[in-house]
Amino acid sequence: MGGWGSGSWQIGKGTTDDYRKLDIRRFQRDGLLSPGRAFSWDWTQGGESVASIRVRVEAGRLILIYRHNSGNGDWRSMDYPVYLDWTDCNLGGRRAWFLCPARGCRRRVALLYIGGSGIFACRHCYSLVYASQRETGDERAARRADKIRDRLGWEPGILNGEGYKPKGMHWRSFQRLQAKHNDFVNASLVGMMQRFKMEFPGLE
Ligand SMILES: [Zn+2]
Repeated sequence: MGGWGSGSWQIGKGTTDDYRKLDIRRFQRDGLLSPGRAFSWDWTQGGESVASIRVRVEAGRLILIYRHNSGNGDWRSMDYPVYLDWTDCNLGGRRAWFLCPARGCRRRVALLYIGGSGIFACRHCYSLVYASQRETGDERAARRADKIRDRLGWEPGILNGEGYKPKGMHWRSFQRLQAKHNDFVNASLVGMMQRFKMEFPGLE
């Protein structure tokens, strides 16, 4: 059985493309979900298997069996139960779902991802976004700055400069928000410059 190479993982926030996934719709379509069955699942890249797991099907759950390399050379054997749920389809038949096995989640999902931590969990638990939704750091900073501008009643848009202290707001709160706002604006501008490789004369 293959294992998880440490090199193939990106740890931390990423897009769904950075993680390997299990799709229960595929298992169901291939008729793999009958209790008592066991099968292996391979992920391939350029026709070669890069990772694989064993799946044992029990009543109401799957056991995922694999080894995970945490990156320091230690391989851990994982034996990871994932409970299933079934819903009725409009056109008859039943549709299978994973219940996300991460602690406290149990969301009903079609896809489970595995990341650097070596556990399978849904995209909510991994805070994953689809690649098309990925925000760059400077876009995120600009959005956060805009949120503060909104609280301060300032015109939206980080290039519109600073406004005044809103009536009734304490100076200390105002200064705290203003400082946060300026940090986000700076982060956004630096990120934008790097992204567009723009050069502002006189700016280090
Ligand atoms: Zn989850």
